[in-house]
Amino acid sequence: MVQALEKLVEELCSLPTIGRKSAWRLALFMLERPAEELTELAQSIATIKQKIVHCRVCYNYSERETCAICSSANRDGGLICVVARPTDVFAVERAGRYRGAYHVLGGVLSPINGITADKLRLAELVARVKNNRPHEIILGLGASAEAETTALYCARLLSGLPVRITRLARGLPAGIELEYVDQLTLSQALHERTQVGGQSSQP
Ligand SMILES: [Zn+2]
Repeated sequence: MVQALEKLVEELCSLPTIGRKSAWRLALFMLERPAEELTELAQSIATIKQKIVHCRVCYNYSERETCAICSSANRDGGLICVVARPTDVFAVERAGRYRGAYHVLGGVLSPINGITADKLRLAELVARVKNNRPHEIILGLGASAEAETTALYCARLLSGLPVRITRLARGLPAGIELEYVDQLTLSQALHERTQVGGQSSQP
């Protein structure tokens, strides 16, 4: 029994998608790497929390107070795609067609798991729409039942405000998170988005 090795395996096991077998493989792989490489990896992990903050505008992860997307002159700040998690921002960005901004809610409604409306950045979304007057909100919340409920909830929250509300076209695989949707499907769903509320005129 090598205690230090077993402890590392335990730690690795706590990561998502890493089972015990993979954890052992990773740990043994690490043991064979040069010490400096491991120190670099350990430092990246140790400092990630200090280096990365939530963008004060869209709540995506960022190294600066305002993220690169929110501060870019090439993006349309009047078009806001509401997503559940930062990984969804990466998914939409990967699809490569979107030129608007984002609003990261921090999850989807799931009362059974204690995720109620007050746990998500819904008030922030309403405030943003009121203050910044975007012309369109795209509900990009995926196709699970919880995502659908959250999208409906958002549409209702925003219904009295002067903004067009759309959602990704149907055709996303049912029950799947946005991050697992292939780029073409996601890109199409964005392009063929349908209106669910708010102003009827095109921007
Ligand atoms: Zn941002």
